[in-house]
Amino acid sequence: MCHDGIVTPSGASRAPAAPPGYDASAAASADAADGGKPREACGVFAVHAPGQPVAHLAYLGIYALQHRGQESAGIAASDGDHLTVVKDMGLVSNVFDDRTLAALDGDLAIGHTRYSTTGSSMWKNSQPVFRDVEHTQFALAHNGNLVNTASLAEEAGMLPGTVSSDTDAMAEWISRAVGEHGVDDGGSLVPALCEVLPRFEGAFSLVLMDRSRIIGVRDPRGFRPLCLGKLDSGWVLASETPALDIVGAHFVRELDPGEMVVVDASGVRSLRPFDEVEVDPRLCLFEFVYFARPDSQLYGRNVHQARVHMGERLADQSPVRADLVMGVPESGIPAAEGFARRSGIPFGHGLVKNRYIGRTFIAPSQEMRSLGVRMKLNPLRDNIAGARLVVVDDSIVRGTTTRAMVQMLRESGAAEVHMRISSPPYRWPCFYGMDTGTRGELLAANMEVDEIRDYLGVDTLSYLHLDGLLDAVGAPGAGFCTACLTGDYPVPIPPEAGKGVLEGGTTSAPEPQSLFQGTMFGGGSSELPAQEAAVALRSPAAGGGGPGDATAPEDGEGSNGG
Ligand code: SF4
Repeated sequence: MCHDGIVTPSGASRAPAAPPGYDASAAASADAADGGKPREACGVFAVHAPGQPVAHLAYLGIYALQHRGQESAGIAASDGDHLTVVKDMGLVSNVFDDRTLAALDGDLAIGHTRYSTTGSSMWKNSQPVFRDVEHTQFALAHNGNLVNTASLAEEAGMLPGTVSSDTDAMAEWISRAVGEHGVDDGGSLVPALCEVLPRFEGAFSLVLMDRSRIIGVRDPRGFRPLCLGKLDSGWVLASETPALDIVGAHFVRELDPGEMVVVDASGVRSLRPFDEVEVDPRLCLFEFVYFARPDSQLYGRNVHQARVHMGERLADQSPVRADLVMGVPESGIPAAEGFARRSGIPFGHGLVKNRYIGRTFIAPSQEMRSLGVRMKLNPLRDNIAGARLVVVDDSIVRGTTTRAMVQMLRESGAAEVHMRISSPPYRWPCFYGMDTGTRGELLAANMEVDEIRDYLGVDTLSYLHLDGLLDAVGAPGAGFCTACLTGDYPVPIPPEAGKGVLEGGTTSAPEPQSLFQGTMFGGGSSELPAQEAAVALRSPAAGGGGPGDATAPEDGEGSNGG
């Protein structure tokens, strides 16, 4: 089928070249490394179970959080006299075995899985970080990303090169405060934290420990999740609730934004170290869209159910006539289920994911990169050939993986490809703990929706509106960060912010004028205009419309959007 010059009669895509501003080469390299999705930035876990060895519990906890970071893993444990830290590059299952876990003696521990945001991927930036100051030993693990790392390092007079990550800078500030609070057995860690935490700006869900206590901290916006669980005889802190399930803990509650929880032999205490005016809950909305495990509970909502609801809203918003609804494995599948359920179009599979491929592989050339998607996804030709497909994914960040996938579907004989995205266009880089690259790599930062549709080579393209997404999450009154979708950054981003800020790297901070106005794409509003969020390549046929109609107007916008 031929569509307005975008798809040839043979079905092969001849999508147009990328416009200036969009760095297709950088986007392709990044997509080859991470499959076209933002990379999560760490999972944290802590356990305090008096009288029990906890190394294996910590191992299970970070194993359940592996999806949040695959570059390095580490555990620190205390036997009451000493802290021992084991950490290395690689997956949890590669870093730990019975021998390494046996070295982690004690009944309290913290653990970490890392993907790098500030500070590159190398052993010295792996976590937990450890400090021994005066008579206090402590360890720290961090999920999130600070935006004032450079000024923290400078203010503290840290020499260039001595501190290479935001977590390292935090540990330095905490160490100094611990030193000023005296030479006791570790009781100085809590007052030291109360003193320095307000200096940290950005996203930080932390777990810390000294010889006798574990501590959890959530920044005043609560960008990243952190929850408290109860063991039969102990307590657990974790980034996500599945890490509680795996160790047999039951969920107690999420920590509040701006809360610090201290667990020691006397029980659990809650402290509020931040100024109340700073507390403004802004949980990352992308935890619901993509980052969190589907079996997680956030804001009291199940993440999988929220994703199914996103697909239902998308079907209401942007109906289409088609033969099959398929999700892009794995993260697009719940929304595809929702789309199918609401539209009445059969749900099925069009792509099979290679379960054994690693998160990263070497792709030295454009040619090799284009093969990358074929290493990860393989088409089910019998389901695709001749079919009008609704292809549902949770997001498009850089677009090169999506483009290659669409081409693969065309080559497998798809009659039509209607792309539906269960979140709004991803237009702004994240500085709060997700690595999305620069604006030049972000597809929607450089193209309007109709241009994206043409670039991807799909028949129609529609993004779920922000209000539909928030409605699908179903947490009325809850605060969310939406900066990557709207440009509305809850914590201002200094110009020097960026992943390599302490290592001589370049900045990827957004342009200040557009950052604070938030008007670049919204005509004065941070909300997306409807016509940007749903674009069809072809004009709707007369009499079309309604669910199941491939020629139905998109959002009432009607024709081909261009
Ligand atoms: Fe999440 Fe986007 Fe905010 Fe980053 S900018 S914290 S990815 S909502």
